Amino acid sequence: TLVSDLQAVLRDVPDFPKPGIVFKDITPMLADPRLFGRVVNAMAAPFRGQHISKVVGVESRGFLLGAPIALALEAGFVPARKPGKLPYKRIVERYSLEYGADGVEMHEDAILKDERVLVVDDVLATGGTADATARLIGQLGGHIVGYSFLITLDFLDGAKRLGPDKVTSVIRY
Ligand code: AMP
Repeated sequence: TLVSDLQAVLRDVPDFPKPGIVFKDITPMLADPRLFGRVVNAMAAPFRGQHISKVVGVESRGFLLGAPIALALEAGFVPARKPGKLPYKRIVERYSLEYGADGVEMHEDAILKDERVLVVDDVLATGGTADATARLIGQLGGHIVGYSFLITLDFLDGAKRLGPDKVTSVIRY
């Protein structure tokens, strides 16, 4: 199955980037084109036929997954970036992370009012990043249809924060 094939390649890196964090390394999955393709299909599948017009990918692994998922859903792709990276007029939201504090920015014209939006990232941990991204989308008047993650770390309760019925993920720990 997809889950068992993923379990075989996803790498746990202890104490990265800080002591106590077990980092989920998805690079072996990205390097395998068949598996990468199956992951993109599985992450897009729950949102097919849901009239998604924008997929927002969160820097940086959300870009790698979000861009092909956007194409699979025939939607546009929007990057949500760390502060100071986007060139044009932008809006910002602050949040606290499993390992630090940060912010996320989006171009002010990235989402149109009432657009149907899917948020994509590799890992859902505390949900702080995805929640800040959702607030950006809300500022621009977008409607969040759901969140698609490759991995959910269930013990951190991120899905509760985002609304459990809006969250899908391929694999949970
Ligand atoms: P959070 O805001 O706590 O849900 O953290 C999610 C963000 O941090 C995502 O962009 C993930 O890529 C990254 N992240 C958090 N925890 C991990 C982890 N254990 N392994 C890999 N990435 C993580």
